[in-house]
Amino acid sequence: MKEKEALLRKIPAVHELLETLRRKRPRFSEKLLTQAARKATEIVREEILKGSRRSLSPEETLKVAETVLERLERPHLRRVVNATGVVVHTNLGRSILPQEALEAVVEISAHYSNLEFDLQTGKRGSRYVHVEEILLELTGAEAALVVNNNAAAVLITLNTLAAGKEVIVSRGELVEIGGSFRIPDVMARSGAILREVGATNRTHLRDYEAAINENTALLMKVHKSNYAIVGFTKEVSGKELVDLGRRYGLPVIEDLGSGCFVDFSKYGLLKEPTVQEVLATGVDVVTFSGDKLLGGPQAGIILGRKDFIAAIRKNPLNRAVRIDKMTLAALEATLRLYRDEKEAVEKIPTLRMITTPPETLKRRARRLKNKLRKVLPPETEIQVVETISRVGGGALPLASPRSYAVALRSPKFSPARLEAALRAAEPPIIARIEDEALLFDLRTILPGEENLIVETLAQIFAREGLCQS
Ligand SMILES: *Cc1c(COP(=O)(O)O)cnc(C)c1O
Repeated sequence: MKEKEALLRKIPAVHELLETLRRKRPRFSEKLLTQAARKATEIVREEILKGSRRSLSPEETLKVAETVLERLERPHLRRVVNATGVVVHTNLGRSILPQEALEAVVEISAHYSNLEFDLQTGKRGSRYVHVEEILLELTGAEAALVVNNNAAAVLITLNTLAAGKEVIVSRGELVEIGGSFRIPDVMARSGAILREVGATNRTHLRDYEAAINENTALLMKVHKSNYAIVGFTKEVSGKELVDLGRRYGLPVIEDLGSGCFVDFSKYGLLKEPTVQEVLATGVDVVTFSGDKLLGGPQAGIILGRKDFIAAIRKNPLNRAVRIDKMTLAALEATLRLYRDEKEAVEKIPTLRMITTPPETLKRRARRLKNKLRKVLPPETEIQVVETISRVGGGALPLASPRSYAVALRSPKFSPARLEAALRAAEPPIIARIEDEALLFDLRTILPGEENLIVETLAQIFAREGLCQS
């Protein structure tokens, strides 16, 4: 107790700390310096009370204040290095954009554009036409509409086609995506009535058929995205649902979740029906995300029958879930790359990362290991290990692409401590802990980021090494 009180008395007054800061950091505004001085004294007080701080010198307080100042100065939303091996990592921003999309965003947002202006007639135009044509060309759909994200796409589709009426969904497909997207909840908000059929593991065509009544609006299929039902199972295919729907004059809609234009089985991954294939079965409306397997910006894409898409477009909700021009620019540029599949796989980072062969990753892991060996203390264990990456983002949940990582073990630092130090670096490096080692999975590390990892680790070891001895 006495010890804590003595330490608390050592905390300088805010105005004293401010005075020092003014001298040391003259280029910062008075407002920012005051904020930093105040915050720093609060932080050290809390640390002392918690017992995590056992000493306090004027230099130490100043260091805390300078750290606060740096934090206040830099943007809150920052670039990080993704060394987790999860390609579509929702917490790390899902897909990173191809160069072509970045250039389109800059061009369109730095200038005026024909966003809602028809250059032929000189009259008001529609923002939706910019990606409609290319979407139809790529997928064979009759009509297309893009909105803010896939959650919005599902919501507005259900609201337009089924408000006040029943939508039949299998109990095996009532998914929850991370965060707050759950099919039953979205259904309720859309005004549609969920009519669940079948059992968790088995749903038969006759279950759907038995549930049809005069208040049925739609039959719906939902991609299981982030889980799989295995064992004694039965699922009704989209095609079977379409046939059933035709017999009763009911439309079928499918929430594809991720949605992809490329058949990944060609690249040694699991077969996932492409958007084109799903539409070819006769499903009336499909919805999917722009930033999952498609590898573009956050968006929700709705494809399908002309009359349905027209009705969805006219729904007043459409204005609330409207796509913005930067997204449209990025989306159009990304979609255009799909005209040539080879180009798409090379230039769209998400596709490139997912399809990189393990042998390439092994070579890159070896190179990273050799670079690290040169800068890290000799007692640090550095190994190239085989590991499993994840596609992530609720896409291809069962795909487990073989990958290679560099595993780090240090007798001095626990993996948790190293992981935290890397997270605190600039830019932060996000790695994962496995088997008491810190893993850097080469699948999601961009070219050029390997050197960042080497330099950052060298700095951490040098700095912490001094503190240790
Ligand atoms: C991811 C996903 C959504 C939500 O898509 P967002 O683009 O994140 O809004 C909806 N349904 C399914 C099946 C999904 O996988």
